[in-house]
Amino acid sequence: MMDKLKTNREIAFSSPEEIKAFQSVQLQNHLRYCQANSPYYKKLFAELGIAINSISLETISSLPLTSKSNIENHNDNFFAVPKEKIVDIVLSSGTTGMPTRIMYTASDLERLAYNEEVSLSSCGITESDTALLTCTLDRCFIAGLAYFSGLKQIGVAVIRNGQNTLESHTEIICRLNPTVIVGVPSFLKKLGGFIIDSGEKDALAKVRKLVCIGEPLRDSELNPSKLALDLNAIWSAQLFSTYASSETISSFCECSEGKGGHLLPDLAVVEIVDKNDKVLSAGEIGEVVITPMGITGMPLIRFKTGDISFMIDTPCKCGRNSVRLGPILGRKAQMLKIRGTTLYPQAIFSTLEEIEEVDEFYILASAENELSDIISIHVATNNNTVTADILESRLQARLRVKPQVIIEPIGSIRQKVFNPNSRKPIRFFDNRN
Ligand SMILES: [Zn+2]
Repeated sequence: MMDKLKTNREIAFSSPEEIKAFQSVQLQNHLRYCQANSPYYKKLFAELGIAINSISLETISSLPLTSKSNIENHNDNFFAVPKEKIVDIVLSSGTTGMPTRIMYTASDLERLAYNEEVSLSSCGITESDTALLTCTLDRCFIAGLAYFSGLKQIGVAVIRNGQNTLESHTEIICRLNPTVIVGVPSFLKKLGGFIIDSGEKDALAKVRKLVCIGEPLRDSELNPSKLALDLNAIWSAQLFSTYASSETISSFCECSEGKGGHLLPDLAVVEIVDKNDKVLSAGEIGEVVITPMGITGMPLIRFKTGDISFMIDTPCKCGRNSVRLGPILGRKAQMLKIRGTTLYPQAIFSTLEEIEEVDEFYILASAENELSDIISIHVATNNNTVTADILESRLQARLRVKPQVIIEPIGSIRQKVFNPNSRKPIRFFDNRN
């Protein structure tokens, strides 16, 4: 077994060189653990003749990447502990068919709590706060449990109201006065509107912080997205964007500067790679690759998250020198190829969200051929003078391609977008395969 994970909650404030030196030691421990305990990596290192002793942070890119399909195809071989050590099982949607199983040990859950404790403390959350969780704690997800564990470790009073109705959350907000709310931004927008419509506007003012998950609050220039501006117009609370994945149990959380999510350098190494798996420099857009360190149940090396973003390595005004991750600009699998241009649905969403006359929308993608996709954008407007032509031109100005826009009644679009089984609105329908 591995020595207990060495954490260092102050390391983010050290110099970039000190951070790198610390991470190299953590990385070596992690690789040794993988070689000794993970059947998948033990075999892989042997087959490829990899000598892990020579690997440092600078040479991490010489190690093979791990994709979701690697895990899907060899799920059992990724488990590095006997069954008796597993205390929590999470299911993560796979690329095909069966969801993959992710097994956590007790020490993985401790690591998870530490990660969230440090992240949420950096948002200024303290033991005097009361936090309402509007995300689920069950259904084999990890996010809700992660927030709960971190908040509990800070000493915050947590209200686990989960995926309850707008009425229920409103009543709780009025009665229990949470100072922090954790949830999906578009849901928090809807909730804020509902509270105002219920005549309880005063209750909004008591909430100090909204911790957001699942949808980006910044654009690619790190300016507030339309969704963030909408939340600012309703809530007086400060917004914090967080990003994580079940496989890596390492979260990136914004500080008060709101300029990208800080990596916890003691817990993970992050890289960005292009479509040929070449490592990119800070600022360049590509797929997020994470090596989470100190995980014992299902340790991973260079895990390809499938999420598209970029890294920021300039020092942050908050005093931390840890690298930051920009907003998630899209999912790699959702990348659209349209007449020689690549485009992510999120870019279309952001453009549509900025058009005031647009009420609701979704995108339908189908394949024209191997090299090109066809998309149609289905839009409901609140203004008859806004035609499909006008919207197509506005989209073209921003996206450099002219997609087809189809105007539809708001009812039919809402029916498609708001699936009762999903808290997040679904705005991208992919019929390409
Ligand atoms: Zn910062």
